[in-house]
Amino acid sequence: MSDIIQLLPDHVANQIAAGEVVQRPASAVKELLENAVDAGSTKIDLIIKDAGKTLIQVVDNGCGMTETDARMSFERHATSKIKNADDLFAIKTKGFRGEALASMAAIAHVELKTKIVDIDLGSQIIIEGSEIISQEPVSCNNGTSLSIKNLFYNVPARRNFLKSNGVETRHIIDEFERVALTHPDIHFTMNHNGNEVFNLASSGLRQRVVNVLGKKYNDRLVPIEEYTNILNVTGYIVKPEFSKRTRGEQFFFVNNRFIKSTYLNHSVTSAFRELIAKDQFPSYFIYLEVEPNTIDINIHPTKTEIKFEDEKSIYAIIHSAVKNSLGKYNIAPSLDFTQETSFNVPPLKEGQTIVQPVIKVNPGFNPFETNKESSINSFKKKNISQQQLTANLDFLNQNKSQNSKSADNISDNRGLEQNWTELVDAETEIKTYQLHQKFILTQTSSGLLIINQQRAHQQILFEQFIFELNRNTAETQKLMFPKTIELNNSDFELIREVLNEIKNIGFDIEVFGKNTLAINGLPIGVEEANCEKIIEEFIQQIKNNANEISANNKNALAMSLARSSSIKNGRKLSSEEMNTLVDQLFACETPYLSPNGKPIIIKVNEEELDQRFDRK
Ligand code: ADP
Ligand code: MG
Repeated sequence: MSDIIQLLPDHVANQIAAGEVVQRPASAVKELLENAVDAGSTKIDLIIKDAGKTLIQVVDNGCGMTETDARMSFERHATSKIKNADDLFAIKTKGFRGEALASMAAIAHVELKTKIVDIDLGSQIIIEGSEIISQEPVSCNNGTSLSIKNLFYNVPARRNFLKSNGVETRHIIDEFERVALTHPDIHFTMNHNGNEVFNLASSGLRQRVVNVLGKKYNDRLVPIEEYTNILNVTGYIVKPEFSKRTRGEQFFFVNNRFIKSTYLNHSVTSAFRELIAKDQFPSYFIYLEVEPNTIDINIHPTKTEIKFEDEKSIYAIIHSAVKNSLGKYNIAPSLDFTQETSFNVPPLKEGQTIVQPVIKVNPGFNPFETNKESSINSFKKKNISQQQLTANLDFLNQNKSQNSKSADNISDNRGLEQNWTELVDAETEIKTYQLHQKFILTQTSSGLLIINQQRAHQQILFEQFIFELNRNTAETQKLMFPKTIELNNSDFELIREVLNEIKNIGFDIEVFGKNTLAINGLPIGVEEANCEKIIEEFIQQIKNNANEISANNKNALAMSLARSSSIKNGRKLSSEEMNTLVDQLFACETPYLSPNGKPIIIKVNEEELDQRFDRK
């Protein structure tokens, strides 16, 4: 038998390692930015083309590399940052594995230009698929410029796996923000396809947070500060009333490194409990400082998870630090006993005890129940809903056939226009009635219709938007007073990715200076009063469903715009509005079910009502 084990060639080993280090353009961005920070730069520029798929370039004014180091930097396990195993426990730099450049060189076309201060000429290296194409002296600025072109050009599986430009851009912005929030003293810029996305001058931390997240944050931040033997906590929390419905703005940094920790996140979130709604997430920017030898940052190649020696104490300290600043800034409702005037409770007389008030109820009472055993009753209930279902389906079918019958002699381009009043006897006077400001009740010849107003409007808009997206001839209703909305950089970038599609749907929106949108008109049927809300909600939805909503996914795009633009539950409707809504709903192709299969209309048949009244 011959020996069969051999060492993998370097370029193969590098390509395997690359799979761990570089999952997507954003991971390359992270590595390059961190290298630039480690090089002691005071200005770092990130330049991106096509969400990083074509180009990722980072230019810094840091220490640069000598000719030999420039060559060495692409070797695997080549690093200037640690020398021996002990150094692993005192890491002050971002990188230390010496894997990033080798990995990127294995899966992209890489160009390095670098120069140290003392020398006139720098060096340029071009390397593709781990193979050096050229190395020559070049005249360039002090510092380093690294370009990663055509990422994954030789790993088609990876390349095909990349998400839409919107999604990949979002990830890049996330990484950029994390590094920028860690180093407010460094001037960072980001440019995407020729547009300046960020330009963050060197500043203090508070100003940096505001520059990254938007001016609005200036009034929202509350400092947090706690110094102990184990841990120093500094940074900002965002006032509870500005909590978000997405998890987006939660940042922990440990020794200047962004980390994720559900455990520590819980310690913050629980301090906010009772101050924010259940479906909301507090925003925070919390910086922890610990002795480097009490943490292990070595457990994950992309290094966003971290192990602490004394996790429990850290949890407790953060929790109390957050509570403290919530209290100090009078954000938490405090009980002031000296001022309490709302209840005037007389003092107890001697020997008197407090008796809890008792309310007498019959827990078995059910107004819909005749006095049968409950098991039979629930069986009956089930039966009824089964009938209701069948009735619903009948209704559906019946209506479908009517639709197709009348379709011939209707000239409307949607071919399905049908007046819902046709479903009603000639003698019946049609009335709509709003219940709880969320349901519209009306009738057909055979029973009662309960329509969910929000879903109904969503459906109407959804079908309209899809139609417009496919035809590109949307009608717009001009706003009397155009509105402008200022967004933060990353939200602005999100919208820009889908701006053309939004326009096709009938939103007349333009870029109006930096990070500002001008809304000049809205699609027919969308209420004018809420146009800022619509955009805000739409952005939230893009964030929540980053993997779905994109320029290429028309359904998801139309759905989320329909959601953000629709009238909501809780909105009072006039009879006229209700009639129009019901009319339009029945003109839809699918009036009964929303695209995700939820009912829009519930029908209760006359028979079923009779039955319920006559039940023994
Ligand atoms: P690591 O950062 O873990 O050391 P990398 O592969 O990212 O590994 O980089 C390898 C080495 O190349 C670094 O240790 C550093 O000496 C050098 N290097 C990389 N990027 C830069 C830069 N922008 N400026 C100066 N030196 C750099
Ligand atoms: Mg590195």
